[in-house]
Amino acid sequence: MSEELLKVENLEVQFKSGSAITKAVNGVSFTLNRRENIGIVGESGSGKSVTATSLLRLIPSPPGKISGGAIHFDGKDLLKLSEKEMKSIRGNEISMIFQDPLTSLNPVFTVGDQIIESIKTHQKVSKKEAKIKAIEMLKLVGIPAPEKRINMYPHEFSGGMRQRVMIAIALSCNPKLLIADEPTTALDVTVQAQILDLMKRLQDEFNTAIIMITHDLGVVWELCDKVLVMYAGNVVEYGTVKEIYDQPKHPYTWGLLDSQITESVSEDQPLTTIPGSPPDLRQEITGCPFAARCAYAQDVCFTNKPKMTEVGENHYAACHFQTKENRLDRKEKTAHDRAIVTS
Ligand code: SF4
Repeated sequence: MSEELLKVENLEVQFKSGSAITKAVNGVSFTLNRRENIGIVGESGSGKSVTATSLLRLIPSPPGKISGGAIHFDGKDLLKLSEKEMKSIRGNEISMIFQDPLTSLNPVFTVGDQIIESIKTHQKVSKKEAKIKAIEMLKLVGIPAPEKRINMYPHEFSGGMRQRVMIAIALSCNPKLLIADEPTTALDVTVQAQILDLMKRLQDEFNTAIIMITHDLGVVWELCDKVLVMYAGNVVEYGTVKEIYDQPKHPYTWGLLDSQITESVSEDQPLTTIPGSPPDLRQEITGCPFAARCAYAQDVCFTNKPKMTEVGENHYAACHFQTKENRLDRKEKTAHDRAIVTS
């Protein structure tokens, strides 16, 4: 059995509205091994959730369309499978959990009904066996008194408990890959830490690979082996967590790191932000997508799109000034950054 579980090559996703075409994902490539975790980070609209949804072929079509590339998962090319074959992969081999569990859970059914339904859809078991497995799963994700709670409705659970239920549903069929789309964003900090701990613990138990979509780099350092930094539908930096944490190379990644709230930032210290806003993806972008916001941009950045270049061991960045011959140094806090500091 190959160690490689997922290989995404040059993925392109577009959305059509009238005569306008939005290139939401533009040539995304990455690989993920079994039991490995990758974090996909970037601002809202960077294409991270669209990339993840494409893996399950759940892009609403129309208006969306996977317009190019390939997705190889466990020896299968997902873009060539029939809808029936994809149905058997969703929830069975690849599961997904979302930011707001309340919208993912059906309010009119008990949590037990929903876990049992998921188990019965993907496994040939009786209702009684599915119920036993559902109780086991609730216990595993730390729901107290699962035999009683299985008969309760989603609104009777707290936000953290509902996310635990979603994790129980997602893992009930022992998937090879779990996609988690901002799973802790709606939760308070203490509960966030508990959910991350739970995911780490269950990963060891279930041997699941995880794609973690987040805007929080702290979550990535905590949970992931690799990082994919996305900007305006493009991958701008990709590598191991160690490389990118120790030696980030792309000016956009520097901006994300500088705008992170860390323990070393005191309450009265102003936070930096990345100036400007992402480009309109309905317009053709000729140069570097980050050029209009980049403190280091030069003429070439506005005319030529930078290619992904190897900048370290298992580490790639798309910047004209991060090549072998040409290495840009990260400024501590640039005058440009200071000018846009917000308090
Ligand atoms: Fe900035 Fe130019 Fe590098 Fe793009 S290519 S990140 S604009 S320096």
